[in-house]
Amino acid sequence: LTDFDVAAIRAQFPILRQEVNGHPLVYLDNAATTQKPESVINAIADYYRFDNSNVHRGAHALSDRATEKFEAARQKLAEFVNASSREQILWTRGTTEGVNLVAASWGASSLQAGDRVLVSAMEHHSNIVPWQMVAARVGATVEPIPVDALGCIDVEALAAMLDERVKMVAVGHVSNALGSINPIQAITTMVHDVGARVFIDAAQSVAHWPLDVQALDCDFLAFSAHKMFGPTGMGVLYGKRELLEAMPPYQGGGEMIESVSFAGTLYNKLPYKFEAGTPNIAGAIGLGAAVDFLQGLDRQAADAHEKALLAEAEAALQSLGGFRLVGRAREKVAVMSFVSDFAHPQDIGMILDQQGIAVRTGNHCAQPIMDQYGLPGTVRASFSLYNTADDISRLMAGLEKAKMFLA
Ligand code: PMP
Repeated sequence: LTDFDVAAIRAQFPILRQEVNGHPLVYLDNAATTQKPESVINAIADYYRFDNSNVHRGAHALSDRATEKFEAARQKLAEFVNASSREQILWTRGTTEGVNLVAASWGASSLQAGDRVLVSAMEHHSNIVPWQMVAARVGATVEPIPVDALGCIDVEALAAMLDERVKMVAVGHVSNALGSINPIQAITTMVHDVGARVFIDAAQSVAHWPLDVQALDCDFLAFSAHKMFGPTGMGVLYGKRELLEAMPPYQGGGEMIESVSFAGTLYNKLPYKFEAGTPNIAGAIGLGAAVDFLQGLDRQAADAHEKALLAEAEAALQSLGGFRLVGRAREKVAVMSFVSDFAHPQDIGMILDQQGIAVRTGNHCAQPIMDQYGLPGTVRASFSLYNTADDISRLMAGLEKAKMFLA
């Protein structure tokens, strides 16, 4: 395919060396979650083995060591997304909590009755429902930005929707259901022109190319560690400093306070104001190790490898016959969503699983776009940098079998 050394990469992922249902595992569910390299697994295990302690207490040597590693990870993440300061990197449980935090804190304090929040019609449910929840509380509306038959945001339609009542535009960088890459910079410029804010769901872009929050000029950006080779239950929310400073806390408790009294409580400074309770210390350290893993790669070569896999898989699928690609944006990550004219996606997924091939089937938590396309869901094969041409051959052989059994 390309000269990217995929064998050396695969050797770092112990989970890939196993059989499933009597066949060597072919893992093509990377948009749901990526596998973890040895370095990430070791960073988490070593933290528990040698450094485990609560952070920010300063009471003893272990606590100092844990705090140092935890805050070094925050600094690493700030540099990873080119944030201007580490105080703008808030730890979360994942993308979902990032959206909920902004919707509950910024949304509840900034949105008023009659205001409009725009989200694209192909958003993941986690970038729709939190906005609906806050909109219902304050009397605002949540409206879909049209998406065309290829899976592209209709930027002209967005331009026509923008007015002074629009206060927030929340869009995915990349669609998890279709793979489409959205023109974020163009959208941000348009949205800022009417004085609204931009929230970027970067869950599906963060593993694929370097993000630069200052170049994107987004107001908020969220992603999950587990989709970029890091652990589950961990994520990052970036925000512009003046917005984060002005926002009320999301949850109350320890860590997020400066002082507590019954006469009145003072909140902590950024980023701790938004981090109530004992944080996911091992998660932050594991995410830091995932950043090291990504930065140790030739990311352009990795991207070219994934793109070559997608092109090869899409061509092979077309020549099999009986299958139809869903989502055909020109700018796509290596996500191949498709349906067949003979069986439900779930039945195809089951036959693939019997052959040790892991794909995702269903609506991919993006029911509105599936409804728009009149589909119950799709089969989604999503490729990562450790996938190979052999994985594609196995997928195609699996689909041939599905055709034989089900057509
Ligand atoms: N947005 C997108 C585009 C996603 O793909 C996902 C995960 N499928 C999420 C948000 C939610 O991420 P998490 O479940 O890690 O919070």
